[in-house]
Amino acid sequence: MSDRPRIVVLGGGFAGLGAALKLEKADADVVLVDRHDYHTFQPLLYQLATGLLEPNAVGHSIRDLVQDQDNVTVHKTSVTAVDLGAREVRLADMAPVTYDYLVIALGAVVNFFGTEGAAEHAFPMYTLTDAVRLKEHLLERWETADKDPSVIEDGGLNVVVVGGGPTGVESAGAIAELFRGDFAKDYRNVSQEEARVMLVEAGPEVFSMFKPNLRAYTEEALQKRTVEVTTGEAVASVSPTRVTLKNGTEIPAHTLVWGAGLQGNELVQSLGLTLERGNRIGVGPDLTVPDHPEVYAVGDIAAITDARTEHPLPQLGSVALQSGEHAGEDIARRLRGKEPKPFKYRDKGTMATIGRGAAVVQMLGGRTMKGFKAQVAWGTVHLALLPTNEDRAKAIVDWAGAGLTHQRTGRITYESEVNAGR
Ligand SMILES: Cc1cc2nc3c(=O)[nH]c(=O)nc-3n(C[C@H](O)[C@H](O)[C@H](O)COP(=O)(O)OP(=O)(O)OC[C@H]3O[C@@H](n4cnc5c(N)ncnc54)[C@H](O)[C@@H]3O)c2cc1C
Repeated sequence: MSDRPRIVVLGGGFAGLGAALKLEKADADVVLVDRHDYHTFQPLLYQLATGLLEPNAVGHSIRDLVQDQDNVTVHKTSVTAVDLGAREVRLADMAPVTYDYLVIALGAVVNFFGTEGAAEHAFPMYTLTDAVRLKEHLLERWETADKDPSVIEDGGLNVVVVGGGPTGVESAGAIAELFRGDFAKDYRNVSQEEARVMLVEAGPEVFSMFKPNLRAYTEEALQKRTVEVTTGEAVASVSPTRVTLKNGTEIPAHTLVWGAGLQGNELVQSLGLTLERGNRIGVGPDLTVPDHPEVYAVGDIAAITDARTEHPLPQLGSVALQSGEHAGEDIARRLRGKEPKPFKYRDKGTMATIGRGAAVVQMLGGRTMKGFKAQVAWGTVHLALLPTNEDRAKAIVDWAGAGLTHQRTGRITYESEVNAGR
């Protein structure tokens, strides 16, 4: 056992990795824990779910990412509890680990807001396995419908997407493009009219965080892709073959994609801390937890207030990366006997994609962009979030390839076959 300080980083997402990598030169041992052996690039999950990308373009080995950093040890295990008093992290299948500094970066989990049947039957879009599960389910429904017309009559090819934020809009847009593009040619005997893609948003409009001109553009872009948008309506219940709205309308659909809400990772409940909206951990200006200056909470699990606007920062990749990097830098600074610094977020704009060649961007000063130009801006900002130069090069090749050929070569099923032992 080394007698250097030990920094335990919980989570290998944008925030956790950001922290661990910034500790490269620290005279300390860094222990990085994640339940998966891969880092997930969530902004590309919808491309995986619709066959544009392969799983290894969205998930990257965590060990690979820190391979050259001598002071990091990675453990693939689940965090089961954190004892802030004893400064100890409990793990599912190994001995507890004590720490001098702790970085909590466990992200968020889907919030079904108690919707009946959603936990059992909805398809959330938050993890790599969620995306693969959705892709294989869509392919399975179309293959079954191809052989059995009664599945089509029962609404088996209809898809309801819940949530008019970025996750819902980009999922609905991508699914509609998959259906009207490749599936129209793959399954020539199936009428496209019988495969509706519906987007349901409880609020009065989709993309409420964007300016009116971008909202109008989004509506038009969705319409062009044949996505039917319903606003001011919420989903009341979900069964394997039906979605029921709060107004009583029953929609025949065998697929409900949930892109409507998140809450802090379930572990936050056991910390004994006062939680903010969405079960997130409230943090001070330096991102430490109240009364625990040795504990940082960063990324989606934290409620971080923007020092400039005094508003809470959104749950975004760039917020997660920058806050994680801040924690890593701050701990390294404190280990050198220096004072902690407050976190300052560098806003690169709010942006989202709707489909091929269709995106919206709203810059800090109020400038807006839409269409292809906005998609290029989205690509540039998101390339910077990818963990390695090799990943960036691969993403450029994948995106350019998909843009030129429009081919979704990932539309094959094998996970379910592996699971079934076939
Ligand atoms: C579909 C989708 C699209 C998005 N699109 C965009 C976008 O276009 N632009 C953008 O900026 N942001 C986007 N986001 C948001 C962005 O991806 C998140 O804000 C970001 O991933 C949060 O990073 P994080 O490190 O806080 O959490 P995460 O990335 O969720 O990482 C948390 C890590 O903790 C691990 N973990 C969780 N619980 C445990 C446990 N108990 N034990 C061990 N390990 C655990 C997980 O395996 C995971 O690796 C999108 C999110 C989604 C879901």
